Amino acid sequence: MNVQVNNNFIVMSRDEFRPWLQQQKITRSITRLQVHHTWSPAYKDFKDGDEFKRLEAMRNYHLSQGWNAIGQNITTFPNGKIGISLGRNLNVTPAGIKGANTGALCIENLGNFNIGGDNMTTAHRDTIVHLYATLAEKLHLPIDTSHIVYHAWYTPDGDRLGDYDPKRSSKTCPGTAFFGGNTITAAAQYFLPLVQAELNKLKGVTPAAINEEDQPMTAEEKKQFEELQNTVKTQSEVIQKLSDRLNLNSDQKYASSYKDAVEAAKAAGAIKTSADKSKPELNIIQMIYNMGLFEEGAKH
Ligand SMILES: [Zn+2]
Repeated sequence: MNVQVNNNFIVMSRDEFRPWLQQQKITRSITRLQVHHTWSPAYKDFKDGDEFKRLEAMRNYHLSQGWNAIGQNITTFPNGKIGISLGRNLNVTPAGIKGANTGALCIENLGNFNIGGDNMTTAHRDTIVHLYATLAEKLHLPIDTSHIVYHAWYTPDGDRLGDYDPKRSSKTCPGTAFFGGNTITAAAQYFLPLVQAELNKLKGVTPAAINEEDQPMTAEEKKQFEELQNTVKTQSEVIQKLSDRLNLNSDQKYASSYKDAVEAAKAAGAIKTSADKSKPELNIIQMIYNMGLFEEGAKH
């Protein structure tokens, strides 16, 4: 472990975050993960090893605004590192989106991800995807636009919008180029699937196992399947009974009571074999025998 701590923050690598998070005790209900970019500081303001410096600067700025701690719970960096706020630990309500902070975690991704701004590094990208997947896993949250929310989907008063609206949204945050855009469509198309795939990977679900055939049946499909099974079973029994009665397979074992009648019928030249005779036919042979007609035939 290479976790670094000072008075106000913990800084760790991407790989250290999940084991750390799993040990944390969450004492409040968290149902929303906010998505932000810092805009300023941007990538030009950061270099490797600057994590505490940047965190302290953001904290000082927030304190100067009269807040009692840094606004966000978690910060991600261009080098993939993750900063945890101690003054705004996971169990403290953040100051991220006015009107939407209760039950939320505020995550600030350092950079300016508006169009024309910073090009997100691969390390940063991987950390952001992993972070949201890991938080969703820990907090048992579905990966959707109700539980992972962009700042841009809210008005300055904290009213949830149907989508990013340049006229009504409080900000462009997390940026008009954040994972393909800051709209709900962009989130659902470009960001959330990556988070879901990462969560599946963490849970040991291999992508190859997810295909049409492996999807469990719905209740309705299951009912239909069971009805079909019952129908097939009933039909099979009916066909078997008919087949037995008609001796369609010509392999019926006759009761020994037919033996004399069959012998007599053969002797009279009425039949060559009894192996292909159905039960109704054997009954007729028996009747003819009982009437003594085979003897008549044999005599002539
Ligand atoms: Zn924001």
